[in-house]
Amino acid sequence: MATHPQLEKPLEEQILEELEDFVPQSMDPGMVFMLEDQTKLGDAMNPYVAALSCPRCGLIGLITRRQLYAKEHMICAGAECSAEYRIDGEIFVYRQPQ
Ligand SMILES: [Zn+2]
Repeated sequence: MATHPQLEKPLEEQILEELEDFVPQSMDPGMVFMLEDQTKLGDAMNPYVAALSCPRCGLIGLITRRQLYAKEHMICAGAECSAEYRIDGEIFVYRQPQ
């Protein structure tokens, strides 16, 4: 079982609350919504650049530049989902269960 990065979650939730006004309330699963005010959110070296709805369950979360452009894995925060995947061009590649 993969563990969730406990430290990142509060910041992510805080940012999501601030972005509520311009992140769509509902997005189709697997939809990427680019943030306008990039590079100011999160780590300066690897800021949050977009909101992504989980391709499996549709939960909206923020993704970092590396996750969007450098194929870094992300884990869905949905308790019932926990899908682990990366973006490879236009497609989502799921990490196979160990
Ligand atoms: Zn999910």
